[in-house]
Amino acid sequence: MNDQHTRRELAARMAADGVQFVSLQFTDIPGTVKNVTIPVQRLDEALERGVWFDGSSIEGFARIYETDMMLLPDPATYCIVPWEPDSCRVARLLCDIYTPQGELFAGDPRHILKRALAQAEALGFQFNIGPEFEFFLFRMDGHPHIQPVPHDVGSYFDFSPRDTAARVRQDISATLEGMGIQVEKVHHEVAAGQHEIDIHYADALTSADHVITAKYAIRAVAQLHGLCATFMPKPVFGINGSGMHTHQSLFAQGHNAFFAADDPYHLSPTAYQFIAGQLVHAASLAALVAPTVNSYKRLVPGYEAPAYICWGQVNRSALIRIPRYSPGWEQAVRAELRCPDPSCNPYLAFAGMLAAGLDGIRRQLTPPAPVEENVYDFDDRRLHELHIDTLPRNLGEALEALAADSVLGEALGPQAADRYLEAKWREWREYSIQVTEWERERYLETS
Ligand code: GLU
Ligand code: MG
Repeated sequence: MNDQHTRRELAARMAADGVQFVSLQFTDIPGTVKNVTIPVQRLDEALERGVWFDGSSIEGFARIYETDMMLLPDPATYCIVPWEPDSCRVARLLCDIYTPQGELFAGDPRHILKRALAQAEALGFQFNIGPEFEFFLFRMDGHPHIQPVPHDVGSYFDFSPRDTAARVRQDISATLEGMGIQVEKVHHEVAAGQHEIDIHYADALTSADHVITAKYAIRAVAQLHGLCATFMPKPVFGINGSGMHTHQSLFAQGHNAFFAADDPYHLSPTAYQFIAGQLVHAASLAALVAPTVNSYKRLVPGYEAPAYICWGQVNRSALIRIPRYSPGWEQAVRAELRCPDPSCNPYLAFAGMLAAGLDGIRRQLTPPAPVEENVYDFDDRRLHELHIDTLPRNLGEALEALAADSVLGEALGPQAADRYLEAKWREWREYSIQVTEWERERYLETS
């Protein structure tokens, strides 16, 4: 529980900021942000004793006979919610979850990531993550759910001073900075209405907290502009989808353990083993980093998203890309995993990515040779010759791989693994029995 000094410090900060309400947040197993708001007068009590809630009503949490759970706010996650009016100042705190016995709840996604990070620490590593968000801005007029209308007709790096999208992106960037998230750059992406915002790297827990915060902030700012921001991986057929490419490195005692001066890719043996681990676990990892039915509509050839399990440097069709090394920037040497999408629960995704990489390090695995050609152009024979496997073609295949993967299963822990698989199988089965417009068009009159 938070000590008196921390509680006093936070209370003073909130008083100085004129905070009236505190929004306490956490995520369920699929990654939906949950929230309970308390008046600032109740904060001290919440920091000391926590706030009780009914865990059985949260997707993937407790069984019905052990429902009581407790939220304990993490003071390090304090930020003001900038879009709320000054007349009603709201602060936000992310929470850890405890059982009635006062133990950290093993199924809390934030705790699962902390557990994975402790394993890395035991090997002397800090796991760093830099996420790139892609998302669409759709117009709200009409029904964005039924027929999304892109907000602009721009394309990659387009800019026009009268472009309202540029203003929305700048507002998003300023809002994120105001919430303590350092923005690297913002730009228009390839598809009409599609944008990208890149966040400065940080340790994986901070980055996962940033992902949760950024999604919620981007949605809120878009709404203030009368737009709908979506992180759905493939909202429109036939054009690029939205990924959340994730740049990763391991630091050891402040130095980048992925860097080696004498290697053609400037990668160390540790980096190669880490990459090999992620390639070996790629199919099961997909169930965590690309976790929705819709994710697999994005992971197809032809739209700059990965569909095959391979790595390379110039190759944007690869699953793992090694961004070019700029001399003197040893700390920036990293591996970019390209299959994650922003519909994932970042805590589980980063925990899985780390567990897969560490497995490669523990087993001293060697990755296959890099592939520098466009893999989309390879036919099945060439893929077979080069031993290049395909990523799961749908959520069902990814879940089968996850269910069979003991390394990722252990990273999630038995309870969370079961609940995650249960929830996701339900989603996959429900989808599998839908009858779509495409089927009616294709078969109604011809069968
Ligand atoms: N939008 C593409 C994807 O789905 C990636 C485009 C890029 O290379 O940034 O991953
Ligand atoms: Mg991009």
